[in-house]
Amino acid sequence: MNLTERDALYNWHPYTQHKTAQPPIAIVKGKDALLWDENNKEYIDAIASWWVNPFGHSNTVIADAIYKQLTTLEHVLFGGFTHEPAVKVSEKLMTLLPNNQKKIFFSDNGSTSVEVAIKVALQYFYNKGEKKTTIIAFENAFHGDTFAAMAASGISFYTQAFQGMFIDVVRIPVPVKGHEVASYVALREAIQNNNCAGFIFEPLVQGAAGMVMYEPEALDELLKICQEHKVITIADEVMTGFGKTGKTFACDYLQHQPDMMCLSKALTGGTIPMAITTFTQELFDAFYDEDINKALFHGHTFTANPTGCAAALASMELLHTDEMQNNIARIHQSHLEFQKRIEQHPKVATARTLGVIFALEIKTEGAASYYGTLRNKLYDFFIENGVILRPVGNIVYILPPYIITKEQLEKVYQVVESALEIV
Ligand SMILES: *Cc1c(COP(=O)(O)O)cnc(C)c1O
Repeated sequence: MNLTERDALYNWHPYTQHKTAQPPIAIVKGKDALLWDENNKEYIDAIASWWVNPFGHSNTVIADAIYKQLTTLEHVLFGGFTHEPAVKVSEKLMTLLPNNQKKIFFSDNGSTSVEVAIKVALQYFYNKGEKKTTIIAFENAFHGDTFAAMAASGISFYTQAFQGMFIDVVRIPVPVKGHEVASYVALREAIQNNNCAGFIFEPLVQGAAGMVMYEPEALDELLKICQEHKVITIADEVMTGFGKTGKTFACDYLQHQPDMMCLSKALTGGTIPMAITTFTQELFDAFYDEDINKALFHGHTFTANPTGCAAALASMELLHTDEMQNNIARIHQSHLEFQKRIEQHPKVATARTLGVIFALEIKTEGAASYYGTLRNKLYDFFIENGVILRPVGNIVYILPPYIITKEQLEKVYQVVESALEIV
């Protein structure tokens, strides 16, 4: 049996209807932007393996840092103990985060970072003796697959089996061009009609929705409204963090600063699962009390795992090398050029670029479904041509690792262009 056949015996894959899905491709090796399967077929990883891997597969700088940490102190519990890698990660983050962020809490993945943020927003008011239990979120948001994160998510595809079992969420429109005012009005109404504890959002780009983009000025206005009404703001930067938008964080484009931020995906350069939620001093202070019941009773067994911290430190250092910043600027520039050449194509409805993120929408008759026929046809075409892209309905997006070469990126563009001829 090959790997794919052995896999089929026992493994249950994410977001997969096993009865109708193609068997998974067994990958045996990765280097930089490339992956190889068990038949030695080569693929360009044009989505950085679900947006986690900016510095390339099998990156030796991060691998060395991990090995050194594994042979020094691989893990120690974070309840009652601390260690240098965790202290260094927090010190380093303090130099990168918006300057109102003063405390950090470690967890394991994007969903848990969101779970922590929502729990802190709710308990903040509980600790103050105020009853505020509603969370505001965008339509078509994606914040993860644990329960509070699912509640905040608006893509019904992921959550329909659990409707009626969620915390209270009110949804407002995303302030995409032409819909800004509708979004502001909906936010004011949501705050007026509910006891809102917090507002969670993906800043500037909604990833899972298909790289839906909106302007910093619009988000600033929403943050201003929340701040006027003491609604806690949570920037879910799980996808956008660590350079994707061209700045370290999407929030770096804003005038107003969020009260909390959620980080994961690229945090460890795509090596070890890890996440961080960050907070203002005011949030931390609402839990700081003689009363033990006011503490944040949340934790995970592997909280602040030293090996994950070592990977995060190495990644954050790589991000700010001239080489990587130049790569980000180069990819952005070439996306803009590709956008110019493709947006006039008769089958392209719209195209957009922010940082290293590029997306185009294919013209369709009616709405394309999330995992529909068009999407599957495109996906299969890309795989056949050795490029890993996962379209969302009729939206094709590229989010490459920063180290992708000029030639590899050009191949990705060409395959996307040829795909337009088969749809
Ligand atoms: C991927 C993602 C999450 C969930 O992260 P997991 O590590 O998959 O749990 C949450 N928020 C956003 C914006 C994401 O892109």
